[in-house]
Amino acid sequence: MSLPLIELRDIRKVYGGVDAPEVEVLRGVSLSIHPGEFVAIVGSSGSGKSTLMNVLGCLDRPTSGSYHFAGKDVAELDVDELAWLRREAFGFVFQGYHLIPSGSAQENVEMPAIYAGLAADARHARAAALLERLGLASRTGNRPHQLSGGQQQRVSIARALMNGGHIILADEPTGALDSHSGGEVMALLDELAGQGHVIVLITHDREVAARAQRIVEVRDGQVVSDSGRKLALPSEPPAATEHLQADDLRQRLDRGATQRAAWRGELLESLRAAWRTMWINRFRTALTLLGIVIGVASVVVMLAIGEGSKRQVMAQMAAFGSNILYLNGRHATLREAAGIVTLDDVEAIGQLPQVRRAMPVIGGEVDVRYGNNNQPFYVGGNNTHFPQMLNWPVVQGTFFTEADERAGAAVAVIGQKVRDKLLPPGSDPIGQYLLLGNVPFQVVGVLAGKGAISGDQDSDERIVVPYSAAAIRLFAKHDPEYVIIAAADSTRVSDTEAAIDRLLVQRHLGKRDFDLTNNAALIQAEARTQNSLSLMLGAIAAISLLVGGIGVMNIMLMTVRERTREIGIRMATGARQRDILRQFLSEAVMLSMVGGLSGIALALLIGAGLVLADVAVAFALSAILGAFACAVVTGVVFGFMPARQAARLDPVKALTSE
Ligand code: ADP
Ligand code: MG
Repeated sequence: MSLPLIELRDIRKVYGGVDAPEVEVLRGVSLSIHPGEFVAIVGSSGSGKSTLMNVLGCLDRPTSGSYHFAGKDVAELDVDELAWLRREAFGFVFQGYHLIPSGSAQENVEMPAIYAGLAADARHARAAALLERLGLASRTGNRPHQLSGGQQQRVSIARALMNGGHIILADEPTGALDSHSGGEVMALLDELAGQGHVIVLITHDREVAARAQRIVEVRDGQVVSDSGRKLALPSEPPAATEHLQADDLRQRLDRGATQRAAWRGELLESLRAAWRTMWINRFRTALTLLGIVIGVASVVVMLAIGEGSKRQVMAQMAAFGSNILYLNGRHATLREAAGIVTLDDVEAIGQLPQVRRAMPVIGGEVDVRYGNNNQPFYVGGNNTHFPQMLNWPVVQGTFFTEADERAGAAVAVIGQKVRDKLLPPGSDPIGQYLLLGNVPFQVVGVLAGKGAISGDQDSDERIVVPYSAAAIRLFAKHDPEYVIIAAADSTRVSDTEAAIDRLLVQRHLGKRDFDLTNNAALIQAEARTQNSLSLMLGAIAAISLLVGGIGVMNIMLMTVRERTREIGIRMATGARQRDILRQFLSEAVMLSMVGGLSGIALALLIGAGLVLADVAVAFALSAILGAFACAVVTGVVFGFMPARQAARLDPVKALTSE
């Protein structure tokens, strides 16, 4: 005699316990089922048939008693091996069909093969062939709600057969069908039994049960009668290909439980499913993703603005030369009088070998008049080094000369915007007289346009006059406000700085009552401000991503709750825990990827608006990729908990959930 496929001994199942009264639903069931059998389990409603089937199909574990499948103790199998049994050995047919509502007939039928790792082509072909065999060739693209009950039940039978369906467990398969459709389904089961599938048919209807070779009657959780196994089946020899012996199945179980699924097929399927759910709930999804969208967008935009203004400032500083130092006397404090840098100091600094040129500056706002036009401008007293030192040539006329400087001549070189604002357009400014305060100055040259703006000052709105003239005629002050110094070697600015410092300390009798800075230092200070700004941005990013992550978690928890039954169906068709985990994790990742991409798109849009509004922005690829990566990582981190919750659901509870 062959080894029984299924052997139950004294199976008990108790529900309730801690919070509910204990109910013993199965009370010592013993039953053996052999290859090739067609068994009907009959009993009135509530007698424990479905509970028995869940135990048989390894969806549920018995409270006590032993269950051997092909000679192997099921209690010793781990979750993956149980999933293998559900996937490869069993095929479930439920009273309520249990199809996944969002998938087509074809997709529902293919599902067990995805978890079995069958290649896509073979999977499509087999599902189509099964549907055709069950008379549904024209319905493959229909979703369950577009099919009649009989058609849905045939789809679920096709699904049960997808991976072979050696043992079909059918729980009241005709219970929800009219008699005609029910008859069709029964004829199908007859046919499958004839082909060698083991059929376990559960029903409360004795007429339906009468079609089986063997009838087992259950009452109050106990087997009360068993018509027994019919040994000889001479009329219908089982087809050799479909008729597996218990030994074969057992060997395949030993091998199969360790086999890996085709991850690409699964990933594709779970991404497709993820996209479908997202699309169905697009409004809710969009609202919840706002956190990630705003977070990513604000980080990218603010970094772009920061980088843009930094580059602008650097460019402006570079425009004035990187070998430039500034020197000024320190302001008076309560303890010390103001430090004064004199023209003699400037003279001495100019003699240092490390210094190429030194230029005293005195200046301020002065009312400037030409004809009826009257406007305040910055007027600076400088020396003849001005054009070379500041890299700022004259484009019309000439700069004033050393002779002008010595004589304190009232001559002026004007910026482009001074010309544009005071003089009639197109007129020649050279030789014209401007009233600076009350003193007439003759224009001798026009400076090139610099286009730089620092603070609220436009560098093209300035007038340059000889230092001597400014000191005597305009500001009535002798000592310079500050001194601009060009180092001889732009790579050794700090040496120059040290030399000047030594010289001045000596000249000021040991007191360091002056400040010496250079453009490079200013740039560094600017960079430091930028860094602290970046730190703040980082904090904003972290907070908004946290909010976004909580949003993702929220969506995923809702999804898991809404789709609990789908998870149960997937588990019944053989999904492993990690398959479910992977599916929901990919949904979370997809969500956050969509959020991240929308955030980047929004940032670029805002950036385009800013460019139109003349704000300097510089998008860095690294910032964009970084923000996106953070969003995705957030999705994984916050999606993990709900996904794991889904993966750990109990198959039976998930299946029977509302
Ligand atoms: P049948 O399929 O024969 O109609 P079931 O196996 O579904 O019967 O249920 C048998 C008994 O077990 C019923 O009385 C039912 O109330 C009880 N039962 C089923 N599932 C649970 C459960 N999860 N918790 C408590 N009692 C249950
Ligand atoms: Mg039932």
